[in-house]
Amino acid sequence: MDDARDPQDEPRVRRHKGGFRWDAVEVLRYKDEGSAPFRDVTRQVLFEGTGLPVQLRYFEVAPGGWTTLERHEHVHAVMVIRGSGRCLVGDRAYDLALNDLVSVPPMTWHQFQAAKDEPLGFLCVVTAERDRPQLPGAEEAPVIAKPLRK
Ligand code: MN
Repeated sequence: MDDARDPQDEPRVRRHKGGFRWDAVEVLRYKDEGSAPFRDVTRQVLFEGTGLPVQLRYFEVAPGGWTTLERHEHVHAVMVIRGSGRCLVGDRAYDLALNDLVSVPPMTWHQFQAAKDEPLGFLCVVTAERDRPQLPGAEEAPVIAKPLRK
């Protein structure tokens, strides 16, 4: 066998390029600017259309940044793979460290925030078919104990 690569392998193995970037994975904006409050978040879709009814995404929140405070019917399964920070799930805030796991149940307010001095990078599994996030209105504000950021 020589070491020529079978072209068929290319879509199956996409190499990590370092720095939480991968071959053939685009670094996308988290959401459209102005569509919801957030700061310094990128999104990469690692797996979709694989035959599994899910998407696996990698989100990275820059130091001091934060995701949108939102809720929806679909659930999140999250694993921290870079840095540290905090999350709000329901009425509790939690410190997050490397390799921590977070489950977000249906219709539960949630938000992620990076530490001030390092990013927070996490994998997040969602169903491919899912509802749109809801943002808190004035009437919901009292039920959210302590948003990390508004
Ligand atoms: Mn969400």
